[in-house]
Amino acid sequence: METVKDYFASLVFDDRVMKATLSDEIYDSLKKTIEEGSEPNIGVANAVAAAMKDWAVSKGATHYTHWFQPLTGITAEKHDSFISPSTDGGVIMEFSGKELIKGEPDASSFPNGGLRTTFEARGYTAWDPTSYAFIKDKTLCIPTAFCSYSGHALDKKTPLLRSMAALNKQALRILRLFGNNSTKRVTGYVGPEQEYFLITKEMYEKRPDLCFTGRTLFGAKPPKGQEMGDHYFGVIKPKAAAFMEELDEELWKLGILAKTEHNEVAPAQYELAPIYTTANIATDHNQLTMEIMQKVAAKHGLVCLLHEKPFAGINGSGKHNNWSIATDTGQNLLSPGETPYENAQFLLFLCAVIKAVDDYQDLLRISVATAGNDCRLGASEAPPAVVSVFLGDELNAVLEAIETDTPYKGAEKTRMKLGVDVLPGFNRDTTDRNRTSPFAFTGNKFEFRMLGSSNSIACANIMLNSAVAESLRIYADRLEGEKDFETALHSMIRNTIKDHKRIIFNGNGYDENWIREATEKRGLLNFRTTADCMPHLLDKKNMDMLISHGVFTEAELKSRYEIMLENYCKTIVIEANTMVNMAKTQIVPAIEAYAADTAKAAASKKSLDFTLVCGYETGVVRKLSALADLIASKAEELETALISLDKAEDIGAKSVMIRDTVLGLMSELRIPCDEAETITAKNYWPMPTYADLLFGIK
Ligand code: ADP
Ligand code: MG
Repeated sequence: METVKDYFASLVFDDRVMKATLSDEIYDSLKKTIEEGSEPNIGVANAVAAAMKDWAVSKGATHYTHWFQPLTGITAEKHDSFISPSTDGGVIMEFSGKELIKGEPDASSFPNGGLRTTFEARGYTAWDPTSYAFIKDKTLCIPTAFCSYSGHALDKKTPLLRSMAALNKQALRILRLFGNNSTKRVTGYVGPEQEYFLITKEMYEKRPDLCFTGRTLFGAKPPKGQEMGDHYFGVIKPKAAAFMEELDEELWKLGILAKTEHNEVAPAQYELAPIYTTANIATDHNQLTMEIMQKVAAKHGLVCLLHEKPFAGINGSGKHNNWSIATDTGQNLLSPGETPYENAQFLLFLCAVIKAVDDYQDLLRISVATAGNDCRLGASEAPPAVVSVFLGDELNAVLEAIETDTPYKGAEKTRMKLGVDVLPGFNRDTTDRNRTSPFAFTGNKFEFRMLGSSNSIACANIMLNSAVAESLRIYADRLEGEKDFETALHSMIRNTIKDHKRIIFNGNGYDENWIREATEKRGLLNFRTTADCMPHLLDKKNMDMLISHGVFTEAELKSRYEIMLENYCKTIVIEANTMVNMAKTQIVPAIEAYAADTAKAAASKKSLDFTLVCGYETGVVRKLSALADLIASKAEELETALISLDKAEDIGAKSVMIRDTVLGLMSELRIPCDEAETITAKNYWPMPTYADLLFGIK
């Protein structure tokens, strides 16, 4: 029998295949390109392309595509076949270095936020050799960056790679200060835990809201929800288990290190965690994982919901972005070390992260901002929209000792200037109890928990890498040229703790008092919606930082602001239209039919015995008639509000109108509809209920 070892990464043109198929010279040259992030030369590209093609064809591939991540948030591909006519009237399979390095998809219908005028409608894709090519659906997929002709990034990979380069550059400066001259590269590593729901395809198709928007826009509370907590880590139902088994197999073939699968808190909710890898590959793999989840689900008669909040009143889905930085020699820079010197270095990197999160709270919030995620953040199931850092009691005590220059009780030996010599080993048991923090230190990594389940993890890691690169740049500027390195380091760490301790919060992030304390006493930011936070992408301090590290250009930032708000507005307008449509064409008619039949029943009872009161029927008919009237008028109000959106001057104004009027009217329309559901006989109700959806998988 074929074992996992046999087929793991069998569809990936990885290091093993490269070694086996490329000459030593080409292999070394390609490795150098990958490690140094330099441009591949055409000779190498030709040899690699030929080897890739032969390998792909031997695996049954007929086509190739440049695989990229435009700003739609999903991946895009344009397939070309390998075939080329041969002189004898047949075909040969061809793939050149030029085709590998660069592609020119007609990109005019991808969002570009004004970056590409129509005469420049073509974008180009450029090979990213740091992420392996792979085969999907008989197509060789080549991970690529996507840019406009003038070189502006139109995707999420380009700025991610730039942010990784910025982090590498600044982290190396710091390592050199600690006398480390051997490290050649510092890389951000990410393990994204992915939550999702599974429901049956049959029920999904009966809900226009799910089909059009990915979430339910109506639905009364089911008699049973998640209150018993009996789903969490419970036995996986056979249908879901079969889905997971096939999903794992498909992911493993693509070299994706899917490691754990378990039930989540809500009924029908699950989680998949992969083993961490570089931020770039983790991003590619997470995009692929989301795509393959949907495909495998379809094969099992299921639908995988990746929306952040598919069901009101039931926990939504997020993504935990576990993030660390490590050297090419395998040292995790966020891991407390054995020696005082290592610990000083650890504390510096720790402080760099704390400072980064405090200085760029807004960018981190922006990096997870979508209409879908707004439904979930701060709803006592996911971190609040206020960003804070959780360190745990032990590490907190260490920082307090440094700040106040008092001995740390855990340190037994004599203190060095930093106030600590040997730090305790922070095992996860003592650091990871708090699940309510948006940004938690979990022993040797930080877990950024604000991401929505459908977000590309690129955005969060772009901001995280860049903000930390900025802290490190400031530190390196200060420390380089210092004669007394230790004293300077000590005071810098102390000052960071003093200046940024407001961002550290070890309590319950779901507590309302915390939000008050955070905003009123500590002055932390609280952007409830995408419309609130997005304009701050263009704040001078944020633009200056991102531009100075070469992560974005000014034009790119402006275009991203437009695109993100466009997405926000479009998403909510589609939801609102779907609600109006469902209310008018499905819900009201169902209510009317049931009310009419109830009235008929009363009339026929009375015709038998005119003394009968028929109080029950009268009550139901009255109640339903009133609800139908209310629904009709709320639907009309919502429609009017949608029409008036056309008056908005620009996308910023439109997003504010949506936030202030449309969202409220949507909730107002939902209330009478959900109430009607609880009174109308089930066989009249036009769609599966929450109970059907959530407990439909056996
Ligand atoms: P949980 O948070 O659900 O308790 P774990 O802490 O075991 O689960 O792991 C969560 C994720 O963190 C996994 O994807 C894992 O690969 C990833 N991870 C573990 N160590 C690191 C690290 N040093 N850097 C980045 N991610 C990591
Ligand atoms: Mg986790």
